[in-house]
Amino acid sequence: MGKKKGKVSPLISFLNQVVLIPFVPLLCNRNAFLKTACCYFFKTYFRFTYEIAPVFVVMEEILLKKMHEMVGWGEMEADGIFSPGGTISNLYSVLVARYKRFPEIKTKGMAALPHIALFVSEHSHYSVKKAAAVLGIGTDNVIAVKCDERGKMIPSDLEAKILKVKRQGHIPLYVSATAGTTVYGAFDPLDNIADICEKYGLWMHVDAAWGGGLLMSRKHSFKLNGIERANSVTWNPHKLMGVPLQCSAFLVCEKGLLQACNQMCAGYLFQPDKQYDTTYDTGDKTIQCGRHVDVFKLWLMWKAKGTRGFEILINKSLELAEYLYKKLNSRENFELVFDAEPELTNVCFWYIPPNLRRIPNGPEREKLLHQVAPKIKARMIEEGMTMVSYQPHGDKVNFFRMVFSNPATRKSDVDFLLEEIERLGKDL
Ligand SMILES: *Cc1c(COP(=O)(O)O)cnc(C)c1O
Repeated sequence: MGKKKGKVSPLISFLNQVVLIPFVPLLCNRNAFLKTACCYFFKTYFRFTYEIAPVFVVMEEILLKKMHEMVGWGEMEADGIFSPGGTISNLYSVLVARYKRFPEIKTKGMAALPHIALFVSEHSHYSVKKAAAVLGIGTDNVIAVKCDERGKMIPSDLEAKILKVKRQGHIPLYVSATAGTTVYGAFDPLDNIADICEKYGLWMHVDAAWGGGLLMSRKHSFKLNGIERANSVTWNPHKLMGVPLQCSAFLVCEKGLLQACNQMCAGYLFQPDKQYDTTYDTGDKTIQCGRHVDVFKLWLMWKAKGTRGFEILINKSLELAEYLYKKLNSRENFELVFDAEPELTNVCFWYIPPNLRRIPNGPEREKLLHQVAPKIKARMIEEGMTMVSYQPHGDKVNFFRMVFSNPATRKSDVDFLLEEIERLGKDL
């Protein structure tokens, strides 16, 4: 076949998809790159039982114990599983919370249950809603609790909404508090939420997919105070800690619950009369069968860096966020979405072009400002020098959201980003 002009060669297209795309984010991090490469080339896939994957089963157990310890739970009770991402870990949390209260769900299904309700904050990640849809609970039964200006759940509104659900004769089952919200990087007041969960008998989940990494930092871990009172936790090492996708841990405080909830005891894998301790056949805890061995990447990185290495990396990302925050504060053509020091590495801001600065605050200015970030981003993509995400949120029009987690980022990159935004947006 002759080559046609304008068509991408199948070889390039293959390389692009199979080789380049998964690896591009890793090129800046040689360790991570090598580790992921190892996993791909040696095809390290979990095969659900100890006899098939003895090393990885034990690795997973050891790391789950370590993570339990960092959350503040007793090591002996450590239970959990590495899952394909925070979305799935959050799904596990709803699944297990529901099973704990209504074990008949497993055999009888939703028809056997009363009307149940879940609670999340307005700023929570959409995955809890998705879990409610997947698990047959329904998104209408995920109640959004109000947040303050900083994006933190308001405990009194949580309590009011729980009471309202009870008055309707429904069962308040579960709260997902967020430790590090996706957009604002906010930490919900975990201790206050735990008090309410105890008072009304709700399962407390902490979605620390994004902010869990701070547990590695002696300087910043206090922001998760109260996490030790949770029934379950989602923590994604593939976010703040820079482990290559995907690597997410679902941690549950009560041992045995995951197994009871999910096990199907397939006779061809999980024979009870094996010669070894079959509690090491951890595959039946999951909603999968075969599983990718995500724990291996975290294991290697932890061995190479140590907890201190992760701490340095995380503290550095937070310093960059602080640096950006201070820069924005000192420049009159930028405006912060909320004026508070970053608690995580998220910094949310608007760029105000000169033409807009002349217009007084009001709907007219808002309407124009809403168009600024998308236009600048489109120009960024055309020029190919930099990229930053934007979104509207609640009543806030489109704003830029910078997050730091790449260890190669320098202060000069932050300066460059602001210069670029200004250069590309000053005529808008
Ligand atoms: C990213 C994120 C998730 C989802 O994690 P994935 O691994 O992308 O599925 C869940 N919760 C929060 C708070 C997040 O920031």
